[in-house]
Amino acid sequence: MIVPLTESDTFTTDTKTESHKPLYEPNGVKQPNVSYHFNPDVSKYHYGPRHPMKPFRLMLTDHLVISYKLYELMDLYTPRRATKEELLEFHSQDYIDFLQSVTPDQVSKYVDNVLQRFNIGDDCPVFDGIYDYSLIYAGASLDATRKLMSGMSDIAINWSGGLHHAKKAEPSGFCYVNDIVLGILNLLRVHPRVMYIDIDLHHGDGVQEAFYTTDRVMTVSFHKYNGEFFPGTGSVDEKGIGKGKNYAINVPLRDGIDDESYVRLFKLIVEPLITMYQPTCIVQQCGADSLGFDRLGCFNLNIRAHGECVKYVKSFGIPMLVLGGGGYTPRNVSRLWCYETSVLNDVTLNAKLPNDLPSHEWFGPDFSLHPQLDGRIDNKNSKKYLDSVRQTIMEQIRYLSHAPSVQMREIPPDLTGLTDEEEELIRELNEENYREQAESKDVAKEVHVD
Ligand SMILES: [Zn+2]
Repeated sequence: MIVPLTESDTFTTDTKTESHKPLYEPNGVKQPNVSYHFNPDVSKYHYGPRHPMKPFRLMLTDHLVISYKLYELMDLYTPRRATKEELLEFHSQDYIDFLQSVTPDQVSKYVDNVLQRFNIGDDCPVFDGIYDYSLIYAGASLDATRKLMSGMSDIAINWSGGLHHAKKAEPSGFCYVNDIVLGILNLLRVHPRVMYIDIDLHHGDGVQEAFYTTDRVMTVSFHKYNGEFFPGTGSVDEKGIGKGKNYAINVPLRDGIDDESYVRLFKLIVEPLITMYQPTCIVQQCGADSLGFDRLGCFNLNIRAHGECVKYVKSFGIPMLVLGGGGYTPRNVSRLWCYETSVLNDVTLNAKLPNDLPSHEWFGPDFSLHPQLDGRIDNKNSKKYLDSVRQTIMEQIRYLSHAPSVQMREIPPDLTGLTDEEEELIRELNEENYREQAESKDVAKEVHVD
């Protein structure tokens, strides 16, 4: 029996009818091979009671995916933890040694400058199992890349990954190890060109920095930017350096962007980039803090619009690694990622959440996959502003006349491809950026002092 799937489904149908209602309906196109990489241990960790990052959002996501029976469509893997050696492909030995050994009990024994050096504080606290947590989500991204590289998967999903702020030698913005950089480094072993697309609310600074000097990875980030908003980077002028010049693309947005303008801009920018660069693999970070009503957010996106960006990238038929990221209102994060799992599997889900969902009470009062999330924040992105951003990026794209043909043997022994000189340059750029941020905060303070 085919039941029409509409947004206006009510709760009045009797339970007998309900049990026959399909949870999804194939859209009738060729099914891609999709794999789902999830180790449930990852959702057991706590950053702390007041910390906005809640790993249990991953458990909620998994509950939804199971209740909608999406697992029937995918290859399911419970990935192993990453090894220390795998983390060291990107991260520095002293940082990983620190992460491995530090515990909440011992943290007071460290001298302040060690904690400062490793950027430990309110955003990135030391919590129980911090190292194991990092190994689990990084292991899942690496597992996903292995399935893509072997051709077993066309699309590989790890909602526990996407921690885009972590740097080589320090954590940042709730991210301890950068599973995205590790995943891309692995993909570069067989893929000549990898494109990274980030639709988190925040700038994908850790990934951009790691590949700032190479044309083998194009990084594209859509994010809120005003020079002060975390992490402070992501201006349209950050374009990459050396061989990587013009291969970093930044789309700075203002508060309150709505579905229509976001999706329109996304397609207008991503289409020519994919056409020109011809990536052989795409990594998409699907941070959910760009949704409306996010605890830390300031955009107005609904779940369908966010998912439309994923659907659009998928429409190019290029292998994809799909990752999570930020997202601080767990019930919406999980709805989004479940919806995007359905999009990647080419099925339509009933908007009414399944009754047997173990965490059903979390999703009231609407109990819908598509709560209305727009309208809380004024849209400060005028058409004129968005047009000017787009035009600046189109100018930059003009320098990318064709896909660079790389020699695979150019994978440097230090896989990030940074020479000491380049690392020094990036360090200076960062220092400059922090200085500018600090100065603009001082100016703001002065303005507020009567
Ligand atoms: Zn974010």
